[in-house]
Amino acid sequence: MATPPPHPPTSKWLVVTDLDGTLLDHAYNFSPAAPLLRQLEQEGIPIIPCTSKTAEEVEQFRTAAGLSSPYIVENGGAIHFPHPQDWQPDRPWQVEPGGGMVMPLGWPSERLRPLLSSLAAALGTQFSALEDLSQEEVMACTGLSPQGSALAVRRRWSVPFLLPADQAIEPVESLAAARGLKVLQGNRFAHLIAPGSDKGLALAALRRADPWRRHVLALGDSPNDQALLDGADQAIVIPGPQGPHPRLESAIAAGRYQLASAPHAPGWADAVATWLGIS
Ligand SMILES: [Mg+2]
Repeated sequence: MATPPPHPPTSKWLVVTDLDGTLLDHAYNFSPAAPLLRQLEQEGIPIIPCTSKTAEEVEQFRTAAGLSSPYIVENGGAIHFPHPQDWQPDRPWQVEPGGGMVMPLGWPSERLRPLLSSLAAALGTQFSALEDLSQEEVMACTGLSPQGSALAVRRRWSVPFLLPADQAIEPVESLAAARGLKVLQGNRFAHLIAPGSDKGLALAALRRADPWRRHVLALGDSPNDQALLDGADQAIVIPGPQGPHPRLESAIAAGRYQLASAPHAPGWADAVATWLGIS
């Protein structure tokens, strides 16, 4: 075991957050939370994205938001540690270009892709994998720019896909589970991932790598955030303009998740500032 990092944290909290639909609105805007993000970064409170996005997409966001903390990509497929000296992972990790480290938790996309085709065949349907869509189709689905679309399709640990309009997600989830896989529903795409790699398992790996064993404040908006929210010390659901996702309502009613006061960055900033006691 390595020695603990030399600088004790200024806060007992880690903030672990989904991005799309949570901190980012559907135009990918987070500007109402930007001042708070800068303040938290200055105070040394890690803001750890935990998202279905690719590493390259998250790196673009981190640069825009001025964040230096680790990040969890592709629904828990891997954790990136840009400053590995501050963390003590208990699993193997790999050196990334630029000097950071990545801890893989899932299976490579090349291994998952044929399994998606097999699920579709068993259900008598066809799925459209993100990587097979044209750039125009990706842009239409996501609202991303051509450059953003190019970053979004570079998957290493997951296979995002679209279901036909008449295909419910539940049978797909059930069949995947019966085969030892996971299908998660995100905002725009469903995601096929390996059994050992959801957001909750990634959070557990992050906690084990935290030498200070800090508490976790987690924020999400969709069913694919449930494992993250369930693994947190405090869980906050960010509603959409029409309210919280229907599949998260029972946990909110039961008091397991708190509901933020507003959608996206305004609700995110209000909830985080309130919970961390920041004025
Ligand atoms: Mg989301």
